[in-house]
Amino acid sequence: MAKSGPNKAKAIVDAAAAGGWAVPAMCLYNLEGIIASVAAAEAKSSPVILQLFPWAVEYADGLLVHAAAEAAAKAKVPVAVHMDHCQSPEMVKRAADLGGFDGIMVDMSHYEKEENLAKTKELTEYCHARGIITEAEPGRINGGEDGVSDTADLEGILTTVEQADEFIATGIDWLAPAFGNVHGKYGPRGPQLEYDRLGKIRESTKGRVELVLHGAGAEYFDEKLLQECIGHGIAKCNINDIVNGPFMEHLAEKAKEGRLTALIEESTAVIQRHTEKCMDWMGSTGKAGSVKLGQ
Ligand SMILES: [Zn+2]
Repeated sequence: MAKSGPNKAKAIVDAAAAGGWAVPAMCLYNLEGIIASVAAAEAKSSPVILQLFPWAVEYADGLLVHAAAEAAAKAKVPVAVHMDHCQSPEMVKRAADLGGFDGIMVDMSHYEKEENLAKTKELTEYCHARGIITEAEPGRINGGEDGVSDTADLEGILTTVEQADEFIATGIDWLAPAFGNVHGKYGPRGPQLEYDRLGKIRESTKGRVELVLHGAGAEYFDEKLLQECIGHGIAKCNINDIVNGPFMEHLAEKAKEGRLTALIEESTAVIQRHTEKCMDWMGSTGKAGSVKLGQ
């Protein structure tokens, strides 16, 4: 069944692209992350995207997805639910059929190009028929993160304008370019981002897809670097260890101290605090009202 009304994930990212800011797309693994992200969004009057990996579907048999969808529906600001790095056709279909996702990243980047394009097209049609938008990754963003199969054994491939066009032809809504960004650690030289490449991709794809940043790791990414990417056309930034790192540190420090309820509440507050920081960095603070949800 296709959902009625405009797609919330698309509406949020369209508003970000039009307004020159980016929405934080929070990679979440638990209920604390869901609660904290929505609380941050409401406190900052910012939209937010809740992102779950296929791991969340397998681990909790869809329960976390439904919790995220309910939190999104009840939120006082625009909140959407997206699946990040869905790396098998079976999981794309399972996630689309579950209900609750507004978007799915159809990540077939571990296949050779022709097969990648064919699968992306077929799965995008499957998702669109259910009111779900899709994101894909032309080229290949190197490295791995918790919940994603590591592609470090495969060669990273930087995205070209031609490749972007080939992927747009599959019908995708969002494109995650590889322009020097990697998942996980950047190594001693730090990120070597090719802003010229990103800017050219933005110019040539404008009005057809919006652009997503992967690889915004806590080690190097701060307001300055994120704003640089946003200035070159990024409208959605995936955020993982910037919030989940402090969450895990808090658990490690406080777990022995006492009550479980206090530990859960305090660690939720840690995620919220760092999520609010991301909203300030990306300029999404105060932008909830600019998202056009129709009705
Ligand atoms: Zn990613």
